[in-house]
Amino acid sequence: MKKTFLPVLFCLFAFSQVSLASMSKHIVDYRIKAKLVPEEKAIIGEEILTWLNDSEKPILELQFHLYLNAFQNNRSTFMKESKGAHRGFKLDKENWGYTEIRKIQLVDGTDLISTMEYIQPDDGNIDDQTVMRVSLPEPVPPHKKITLYIEFYSKLPKVFARSGFHKNFFMVAQWFPKIGVLWNGEWNCHQYHRNSEFFADFGVYEVEITVPEEYVVGATGTRIEEVKNNDGSKSYTHFQEDVHDFAWTACPDFEEFREKFTLESPPVNTEIILLIHRSHLSQKERYLSSLKNGIEFYSQNYGAYPYPTITLVDPPLGALGAGGMEYPTLFTSMTFSWMPKGIYISEMVTIHEFGHNYWYGMVGSNEFEEAWLDEGMNTYSEIKAMAKYYGEDRSMFNTCGLRISDFALQRAQVIGSGRMDPILKNSWEYYSSGSYGLNSYSKAGLVLLTLEKYLGEDVMSEIMRTYFDRWKFKHPTTKDFIAVAEEVSGQDLGWFFNQVLSSPDKLDYAISRINSRQVKEPQGIFKGKKEADEGIQGRESRQKEELYRNEVVVERKGEWIFPQEILIVFENGEEIREKWDGRERWKKYVYFKPYKLKSAQVDPENKVILDVNYTNNSRVLKAKKVSPLKYALKSMFNFQNILSFISF
Ligand SMILES: [Zn+2]
Repeated sequence: MKKTFLPVLFCLFAFSQVSLASMSKHIVDYRIKAKLVPEEKAIIGEEILTWLNDSEKPILELQFHLYLNAFQNNRSTFMKESKGAHRGFKLDKENWGYTEIRKIQLVDGTDLISTMEYIQPDDGNIDDQTVMRVSLPEPVPPHKKITLYIEFYSKLPKVFARSGFHKNFFMVAQWFPKIGVLWNGEWNCHQYHRNSEFFADFGVYEVEITVPEEYVVGATGTRIEEVKNNDGSKSYTHFQEDVHDFAWTACPDFEEFREKFTLESPPVNTEIILLIHRSHLSQKERYLSSLKNGIEFYSQNYGAYPYPTITLVDPPLGALGAGGMEYPTLFTSMTFSWMPKGIYISEMVTIHEFGHNYWYGMVGSNEFEEAWLDEGMNTYSEIKAMAKYYGEDRSMFNTCGLRISDFALQRAQVIGSGRMDPILKNSWEYYSSGSYGLNSYSKAGLVLLTLEKYLGEDVMSEIMRTYFDRWKFKHPTTKDFIAVAEEVSGQDLGWFFNQVLSSPDKLDYAISRINSRQVKEPQGIFKGKKEADEGIQGRESRQKEELYRNEVVVERKGEWIFPQEILIVFENGEEIREKWDGRERWKKYVYFKPYKLKSAQVDPENKVILDVNYTNNSRVLKAKKVSPLKYALKSMFNFQNILSFISF
């Protein structure tokens, strides 16, 4: 195989059939031949990798991810952390998975396998073989390339966490020896953890996939060749530049639908490829329309979708562990044939996973170390897209009289959460997978929505657009995002980000007290100058004006500080709006008026989305006697609070 493979690949390398103006710096160039052996649930692979040393240092060692080794026994770091379960799906102990390196050498034939060594940079677990390194006989000089030839055998586990097989369905992801990222002169090559996704460099992928001919194949990128082989197999070659991963799927029970999708402004011209399992054909239109909504929303709000294809993979029932996962230009969604019309779960998953082409695919932040930059931004975008296409107050459920928005569900998670972790943390170091999910997804999404309400929608939109444009095809960090937000808004936002990203606390403001008391008749001796000047008449008229002492106390119950607005309403309808910087633990407002208070409300428009308790945001002055009108008014207030909690 190698004899014919090498010259062919080098030929392709030199005269690539597809050439687009590249959008990223190509650090990696993968030319892979992969053959699916369904009986063995395995891939036989050959890989030619050319890697650019983009640093100023000579590099003597290369590090690789062998992600599938997470599934090879119960002692891997992934298995120890997950106890063999992921998002509710369980490991099948009869079907482990692994990647075996059979050959790794330089193009001149120099063997490297003898230098190969498994390392555990994150936890020192010697049973974990998801990262390996090889030593080079000579260093790769700065700004020079090196080319390796690798033969590997990847056995797929029964799918429960993203990659694997179920019967005749194959989701082939994290499946090939993949070089780490040399970042700031050091290898950034983390082990495969339960609570983490991935990080890789941009470049070129050309992958030839060989499967038995009855299999329908979907893969990252554009299909540039399709060959029928003499042995009853078919080979499909896919190509894509400016991506940092390559995934594929194969199943004889897929139905394939292809459709052109174009937008005028911004200009988008792509091909939608839907691979839907036969048992789900009734859901075809829902998948297609939600994907179109996703492409339109992200293109219009962040930047035009630039790739020539987008492939939506629908896994069969029994393989839902593969569902809801993103890869460049290809993602998996999930549905059931009986999914009711007013439940938008597959729409949400489709839009979310498509959206990762932006906040993972193109903006290549480090998901191991700063997951919120991907999942949080994507949750924020998803909430807005869902509200736009499926209704502000009903974007997740609109059935049987029940209306619940995506926003309300995300907020409910934050409200009900503990205070175990801040948002910024290595993904595998969170207290639990629940805490990882809460912080990286929902809370981070709400942080951005709060910022949007604070700065205004136009400013926030400009921040997101600028961030995407400046950092696409690069590896930004949290600092880079904050710098864009401060530059675009013209404001120092450190006070905001430092709290919400680095501390596990909460934000909660409340009206803790309101009362109106009649001002007492003056008693005793008054010797002040004013008293003498205004005389009896003046004093009486002042008493009329100041018949009631009205008091409102606003309290900061949480640790996070956020500027607040307070709306005070009096019995005669007069309204006062106060602004408070929110810094002290409490603030008292006193008004002398000829009439009483009716109500007080902090954050009357519910703009401070991170406030975890809206029900303490307002108080209505209690009547001494039970007045049906006031009782109704108070009920209405409470009802509004509940509404603002479940829908937005
Ligand atoms: Zn996601």
